[in-house]
Amino acid sequence: KANRLFHPEDTIVNINGNKIGDKHLGIIAGPCAVESEEQIVEIARKVKKSGANFLRGGAFKPRTSPYSFQGLELDGLKLMEIAKKETGLPIISELMSISYLDEFMNTVDVIQIGARNMQNYDLLKQVGKTDKPVILKRGLSSTIEEWLLSAEHIMAGGNKNIILCERGIRTFETYTRNTLDLSAIPVVKKHSHLPIIVDPSHGTGSSEYVESMSKAAVVAGCDGLMIEVHNNPQKALSDGQQSITPEQFDKLMKKIKILSSLE
Ligand code: PEP
Ligand code: MN
Repeated sequence: KANRLFHPEDTIVNINGNKIGDKHLGIIAGPCAVESEEQIVEIARKVKKSGANFLRGGAFKPRTSPYSFQGLELDGLKLMEIAKKETGLPIISELMSISYLDEFMNTVDVIQIGARNMQNYDLLKQVGKTDKPVILKRGLSSTIEEWLLSAEHIMAGGNKNIILCERGIRTFETYTRNTLDLSAIPVVKKHSHLPIIVDPSHGTGSSEYVESMSKAAVVAGCDGLMIEVHNNPQKALSDGQQSITPEQFDKLMKKIKILSSLE
């Protein structure tokens, strides 16, 4: 079902009228973790003004250490809803466990499946039984084939609304957190009809590389970007080192607009 051979036309995922996979870039921005009402609403207002079409904020966070901030959980989802009411931006958050599927169905516009859960087949099957749009991130060490087969697990249940997200893979390189695999864009476009977006924040792990990799991803033909934006990156409770400020995001959006108009 994910294979272009059996479905030659590009899939366009429609999220309440906001499309990903059509001619326009989908711009998803927001903090790694929702921290407070003031934080999420302020970031939402600012990124919307700069041109973001979606707000993303983590409520349940898959942290490497169990002692790191784990997210505000259901309270975080409520704050995302408030930010949606305040700005009208559709909201995206990561679902880590099927036990919260109902809450996510009732709140978010798009369910994010994180890199660590790309091969959590039970989770994939359950979201596959719904019609909720899904962002499926590439696994930390997954091949493109494994990633497309994970999309297939969701699609086998009937859910066609899948957006793939390249977020970097593990390599021997240590100067970046991950190695952003931009070649995944044309490769996925050849083998699949699903839209592909790029996350340069996790892809590099460093705010100073976000601009160049965002621009490169757009020129390489991605359908959108997912960028971590925080109003105070130094104080962020997660992923501050790779988060850009709303001001930096605004400058980046102006450059991206020029590039995407060249396509
Ligand atoms: C995130 O989006 O904040 C995240 C945890 O990403 P990934 O699953 O790509 O590591
Ligand atoms: Mn993050």
